[in-house]
Amino acid sequence: MSNFLTEKYTKLAPYVPGEQPKDKKYIKLNTNESPFPPSPLAVKLANDEAKNLMLYSDPDSRDLIKEIALYYGVNTNQVIVTNGSDEVLNFAFMAYCDSKTPAIFADITYGFYKVFADVNNLPFKEIPLKQDFTIDVNDYIKEDGTVFIANPNAPTGIKLQLTEIEKLLQSNPNRIVVIDEAYADFSGESMVNLVDKYDNLLVTQTFSKSRSMAGARLGFGIANAKIIEDLNKIRYSTNPYNVNRMTASAGIGAIKDKEYFASNVEKIIKAREYTQKELTNLGFSLTDSKANFVFTKTEKIDGETLYLKLKEKGVLVRHFSKPRIKDYIRVTVGSIEEMQTFIEKVKEILEK
Ligand code: PMP
Repeated sequence: MSNFLTEKYTKLAPYVPGEQPKDKKYIKLNTNESPFPPSPLAVKLANDEAKNLMLYSDPDSRDLIKEIALYYGVNTNQVIVTNGSDEVLNFAFMAYCDSKTPAIFADITYGFYKVFADVNNLPFKEIPLKQDFTIDVNDYIKEDGTVFIANPNAPTGIKLQLTEIEKLLQSNPNRIVVIDEAYADFSGESMVNLVDKYDNLLVTQTFSKSRSMAGARLGFGIANAKIIEDLNKIRYSTNPYNVNRMTASAGIGAIKDKEYFASNVEKIIKAREYTQKELTNLGFSLTDSKANFVFTKTEKIDGETLYLKLKEKGVLVRHFSKPRIKDYIRVTVGSIEEMQTFIEKVKEILEK
């Protein structure tokens, strides 16, 4: 740290992304990416667009927003596109939290929420998940503030019933509820079609997981038009060209290629079920994950040792040191072949 960094940032603890090691080739099951390449149509459209890179991108991403709106059955003024869904989430912290309106989120959830609060100097309150890692919406209904819920949650993968979220939305129409649906495509349920019913609902999603575009950085928010207007005000005040030309074109291809998307999601769900079954047979306990990862522990070996031994064997998973979840590992669901290798390596480790 230099002596020049202003005081407000000296104690900031930044988000720690999962490792992206280059020392050897790993089976990479640590950052919830897709094992499948992006849709061929996405790649083609991005390639075609490369020749136009001397021009700024469309600050309103009109062509892309048109496709997203069509796909989700909303109006174009109900969609904002961003540089990953991290960006729209950050905008929501900026727009809807302040000293009088804290951010409210779970103690075990996406680690970036706390960082977004900290970097923007916003108060926040962490609500403990229940013992079994589920959310009791009554704990949130009691609080004043802007609620952020990942559904399915990370890193547990547990899904909250939409009717429960509706109770929260109804309990206080003056409170914004942000539902982070980064993993919703793997759970088969979304709140997107409720944005016309609830003016206080903002749903965020990403192209990083189910659409195999983590490296392109593309996310979006869907809400009523006034909320989108708020978020665009912040976007125009930070980076109007937040979605680059190649990414916007790739996004159009990914949305249009419905069959490729559906077939990949189905493969991931099958591989998730395989992994859950095999781990259960090996005596592991698992949360009921509806995401593209499983969250699991065993009495036979602690989470950190298992993570380290798997890494030695060329399989990268994620371990978190937070006390409540330190016994667990989170394993991204890759292709069925990758999951078979993962299970083999786990068996080898347990047999020793
Ligand atoms: N929300 C959750 C719950 C996540 O796990 C992630 C991925 N790390 C994101 C949002 C952000 O993903 P991206 O910025 O790639 O869209």
